[in-house]
Amino acid sequence: MSCHIDPETHLLTETPHRPSPDSGGVITPEAIVIHYTGGGRAAGSIDWLTRADDVYVSAHVVMDRDGSITQLVPFNRRAFHAGRSAWNGRSALNDWSIGIELANYGVCLEQPDGGVRASTGAEIARGSALRAAHKHGGPVVWWERFPEAQIDACARLCVALMRAYPIELVLGHDDVAPGRKVDPGPAFDLDAFRARVAVCGGSCGNARLDATGL
Ligand SMILES: [Zn+2]
Repeated sequence: MSCHIDPETHLLTETPHRPSPDSGGVITPEAIVIHYTGGGRAAGSIDWLTRADDVYVSAHVVMDRDGSITQLVPFNRRAFHAGRSAWNGRSALNDWSIGIELANYGVCLEQPDGGVRASTGAEIARGSALRAAHKHGGPVVWWERFPEAQIDACARLCVALMRAYPIELVLGHDDVAPGRKVDPGPAFDLDAFRARVAVCGGSCGNARLDATGL
């Protein structure tokens, strides 16, 4: 799948669009924030993120486990994905970042029989789960891993976004809202992901990240 972005509409040209009612004013994206949905198939999360109600929540794209993308908000419009957030002294990530939601259950629960299940009850194969503590602390728990196809498609999307916009940073939601959010969590190796994006032609500010930390 190619990641061509129409410079007029700021939409991916070869993916389905499901416009979110929760999109705001024009922004210039300078960062990408990676999230997980905490749910099953992307379709359910897309339905939830595009429903009309008084809760302002959205993201620019939702990516399924197979790497397929649905765009909800044009990349030059504000989406409501990061909430109360800051990075390097600069607050309100929604005003200057693109939010990518990856379909993923996130924290999973170990069953008395030794199996691993998502909070929805869905069974997770042991090989598809990682047992780890979050980098910001908390107990050692299970996290659903991100399939290679999803990581690969996400990297290609990030490279396309970095070529189209003045983006220098790829951050986790847990980086910009520490203590409040844990996504994408330890199953998403952000350092390896940034290196991969850089190799593919994006430049995602590794040096700056290393220098500033949290
Ligand atoms: Zn998030």
